[in-house]
Amino acid sequence: MCESGARLKFVKVHLDTRTVEESEFIQKDYGFFGGRGLVAKLLTEYCDPNCDPLGSDNPLIFTTGYFAGTALSSSGRLSVGAKSPLTGTIKESNAGGTFARRMVEQGLKVVMFLGQASDWTIVHVDDQGSFEFLDASEYKGMWNYPFHEAMVERYGDKVACASVGPVGEKLGRIGAIAVNEQGTNYPCRLCARGGMGAVMGSKKVKAFVMDRPEKPFRIKLDPDAAAEFRELNKVVTGAIRANPLTGQAMPLYGSAAGVDTTGKMGALPYKNFSGEFTPDWERLGTKMWRNRLLQHGGDGTIPCQAGCVVRCSNDFHGDDGEHLSSGIEYETVALMGPNLGIFDPQAVAALDRVCDDSGMDSIDAGNALAVMMDQGVLEFGDADGALEMLKSVVDDASEFGPTLRDGCAAVADRLSVLDQDGPVRVAVSKNQAFAAYDPRILRGYGLTWERGPQGADHTAGSAATYLKDMTPVQQADYSLAMNCSCDCCMCLFPWAAVTYNPEAKAALARMAGILAGMEEGPGPDMWLQNGMEILELEYAFNAKAGIDHDGDLFYGGKRNFMYNVPAQATKAAYWSIQDGEPPEAGGPAVDPSKVAQEAGENAGKTGEES
Ligand code: SF4
Repeated sequence: MCESGARLKFVKVHLDTRTVEESEFIQKDYGFFGGRGLVAKLLTEYCDPNCDPLGSDNPLIFTTGYFAGTALSSSGRLSVGAKSPLTGTIKESNAGGTFARRMVEQGLKVVMFLGQASDWTIVHVDDQGSFEFLDASEYKGMWNYPFHEAMVERYGDKVACASVGPVGEKLGRIGAIAVNEQGTNYPCRLCARGGMGAVMGSKKVKAFVMDRPEKPFRIKLDPDAAAEFRELNKVVTGAIRANPLTGQAMPLYGSAAGVDTTGKMGALPYKNFSGEFTPDWERLGTKMWRNRLLQHGGDGTIPCQAGCVVRCSNDFHGDDGEHLSSGIEYETVALMGPNLGIFDPQAVAALDRVCDDSGMDSIDAGNALAVMMDQGVLEFGDADGALEMLKSVVDDASEFGPTLRDGCAAVADRLSVLDQDGPVRVAVSKNQAFAAYDPRILRGYGLTWERGPQGADHTAGSAATYLKDMTPVQQADYSLAMNCSCDCCMCLFPWAAVTYNPEAKAALARMAGILAGMEEGPGPDMWLQNGMEILELEYAFNAKAGIDHDGDLFYGGKRNFMYNVPAQATKAAYWSIQDGEPPEAGGPAVDPSKVAQEAGENAGKTGEES
């Protein structure tokens, strides 16, 4: 019989009174929910959907994936959730790094921050599992890199740290929470989307920091269950290793492997999602990244968390050979690169560093800079200007900094883009900026970004194929539900490898059943069912907050350029999910699973040449 879950703790941290309330976390009360599912369930119970996201009534939830603490690859996922100050919707944002594993080692399943502290505070859990509230005034205003160095100095290099930088402190609505990476300790794994850093800043919590406990909690199974779990885990790990993307491309190139594929198909955003093919995308393509990393003393095969077999993170060194940035992902490469007309990897890495260091979502910030360039505030290709503009987010007296830290939609509002004639060239859905996939080419993203409960998330849409036997709404919900289950369990990349492999998908479902103490089952369809339950909770929360599907259109409604400006590759604009079936003349929809497959196969062919 499984013993997991029952002895993990649910801790409420009352910041107003500096008290802690502990109870036992009972997993069976939450089904197969972990991560995003737990956030949805707990916000439904503890959060008034009409609360002020930056007020004291908005709880901030830290929790872990369903499999956290087990040997399942890439399952040490931290989920942070609250009502979003960016989208006004329910929100969950997740990251790898050290934190989720440390929560399990500390015996913690859920830590919910309630109320607001009166002064800047570090919430620290010591090696005996005791919570303490420390004065953080000396660290106020500190950027994430020096702050994490200070925490390593104070608590040792085994510390797990989740912090806000100055953007979160200033309640910037694209403020992120930065978690240190396994091994390197760089604060480069971000719960980036939806302003969870602003919610943490509103509570005056500079950081949540945990020591390694003297007696780490371990997930325990009885011997038979443990043996079955181990065998099934081999099937899952085998599928991850056998998949061309997670087994070949990503260990070599990281998620930047996506540049080659989207570049070739015309879905790589270029100059504020102009719809044009990106010229010379190879300048930021996979071979370049790998060679650049190796030539300057960096590394491109780093596990961001213990036990990940994909190891897609990277350590980028600048021209001077010194560390410049880490964990540079496809979305950042694309949106700080070609989408700004910038093709210099050093410049892209420098922009990524500012986002990590100041604690800001690089996706939203990249899109905001692109709108500024489109509007003539900066020139496309002006890397120095973009860097200075990005740094200005911490300068309250600067012309655009305070707006930029509120994200792309805020910048568009400030520049009165809606008052201008013609298509509205702002890549935003539900106030959150697009990830780096053009929905005129990759329709799965468009569907989920319009309909999804959390805006234009980079993780939403890649789980879907363009399923011809479903209506667009059904396709979107299918995709979103699978994404919800992914965010309950493990990192998106291996999740895709597992769920596209029927044997591994079934094995993962059975592993969930073993943890739940089931003698057999559940079947692999449980992932869709589980995700649908989460999706329903999220839609219901949003409906109570006054956000329903009538608003499922991009920024500016039908005037948005996605609905009006054809992409070069398909010679068609994106139609709206609100219009029902897409026009046949819209060009071929691209199946994201095939995109991932192709990226891996390409990398497998080219890897040895690098
Ligand atoms: S696949 Fe990459 S991002 Fe995901 S857990 Fe592994 S190293 Fe981290």
